[in-house]
Parts: sequence; structure tokens; C-alpha cells
Amino acid sequence: MTTRLALGSLAVGLAVLALKVLAAYLTGSIALTSDALESVVNVATAILALVAVRLAARPADATLQYGYGKAEYFSAVITGVLIVVAALLIFDQAWRGFVTPHAIVPDPWGIGVSIIATVINAVWAYFLVRLGTRERSAALVADGRHLYTDVLSTAGVIVGVVAAIVTGYQPLDAILAALVGIAILWSGWHVVWNSVIGLMDVSVEPARLSQIKDVISASAEGAIEAHDIRTRQAGRLTFIEFHLVVPGTMSVEDAHAICDRIEGRLRETVADAQVTIHVEPENKAKHSGIVVL
Ligand code: ZN
Ligand code: ZN
Repeated sequence: MTTRLALGSLAVGLAVLALKVLAAYLTGSIALTSDALESVVNVATAILALVAVRLAARPADATLQYGYGKAEYFSAVITGVLIVVAALLIFDQAWRGFVTPHAIVPDPWGIGVSIIATVINAVWAYFLVRLGTRERSAALVADGRHLYTDVLSTAGVIVGVVAAIVTGYQPLDAILAALVGIAILWSGWHVVWNSVIGLMDVSVEPARLSQIKDVISASAEGAIEAHDIRTRQAGRLTFIEFHLVVPGTMSVEDAHAICDRIEGRLRETVADAQVTIHVEPENKAKHSGIVVL
């Protein structure tokens, strides 16, 4: 599923790039050229996402015993860096255009092609974010969010280019290109930040954590308490660890049965949960963690 989405992204990216290059060529606008340059980044992103998604889907092996989930974050970091490079190239173009402004060719076909490219991007971004969230793929969601910012910046550029043609105010083209650059820089920063905290073992969101605590509390019958719960995410995998306090005289067999029950329920709630439970006798109780119902 994720592989097909990543392939789709590549195809859409190439089609949109071709349309935007055509629009830039027909109008000679710096803002539309910046917009096309931005699409080169999208194609690079799609290729990286495809590689990452394929890698992340590999099962754990002897070398990477916790799986390949984090491969996606690497792809997202590289994507973020590429986005920032694109922004810098655009600032350069915008500066040159501002110093020596030149007229935009008022070609209705150029504007039309640009609008078609944006509509394609918008539809695809919507699917990527929706399905990427469902498949819990960091690379695909990053890709989709990034496309949304493209749609916004292209829409702004089209409005601006039309305004520049109508008013005849030439520097507007360069100013718009610079604004596209800022929007791109912002989206690049987000992509980098999200993948960096992923590589740093970010924990689950507070709402998810309380959900996990409720499941433990409701399914640990026979145990006394659970404490020191920790979570970390690696791509689609969620690692959950905690201490489970049981009566000191409980047999290993009974304690293990409780653990298996909790693990099963957690996997029903959190897809791809990897649960590790440390069992302790009651004198280790902290009376501070999750009270078992
Ligand atoms: Zn403990
Ligand atoms: Zn076991």
C-alpha cells in the first residue's frame, strides 16, 4: 500500500513538474520558475520516500533486530534539507529579478497550465495525508503536508502573476518568488524537525499514552500496579515498556499469563505495538504508577 502511494507520488510529481516548467516557459515569470523549481524537490522527495517506505517495510533481521522503521526518518531529513536548498535557489532568483525586473508574458495558457498543476497537487496531497496517516508512514505524511504548502504558494503565485500583468508593476514577480521561498523554507523546517524528534525516540502523544494506561489498568487483573511506563516511536512501530508489580508469591506461570493478556490488548489498541514488561514482587511497588483495576 505505502509502496503504491510512494510510486503514485513520483508519477504525480513528474507530471506536475512538466506542467509547471511549461507554465514558467510560456510566461517567463520568476515566480512561476521558482514554483517549478520547487517541483524538482517534490520529485526528489518522492524518490526518497519510495526508497524509505520499501526499506521500512522490511521485517527485522539479525543485524537490525528492532526493524527498519526509522529508515523513513532518514528520508524525511534528507527531504527537508533539499527543500531548504530549493528555497535558497529561489531567494537567489528573486534577488536577481528584483534588481533587474523584466516583464511577464501575459500568456493565458501559462496561467491555465499552472492552475491545472495545482489542482492535481491538491487532490494528491489530500490522499497522501489521509492514507499516510492511516498507514502511519512518516515519509508519506511529510510528503503530503509538503504538497499542501505547494498548493498554497502556487495559488498565491498565480494570483500575483495575474496582478503583475494587470497592474504592470514588474518587481511584484520577484517579491512573490521570495514569498514562495519563505513558504518553502517553513515547510522544510517542519519536515526536518519531525524527523529529528523521530530519530530521537519521541514518545507517543499524551492522549495515546492515557489510552495505553487505561488498557494496562483494565487488562492487568491479578497484578497490583504498573509503573515506569515509557514509550518511543520508530516509524510505524510503537515500543511500550513498563514494570508490573504482582504479589510476591505468584507463580511465574500466572505472572506470564497476565503479561500475555496485557500485550494482546495493547496490540489491539496500538497497531504494531512492541511491548516489554518487567515483572516485580509487591515490595518493589512505588504506589505511584497505574493502579490495576
Ligand atoms: Zn519497578
Ligand atoms: Zn512470553
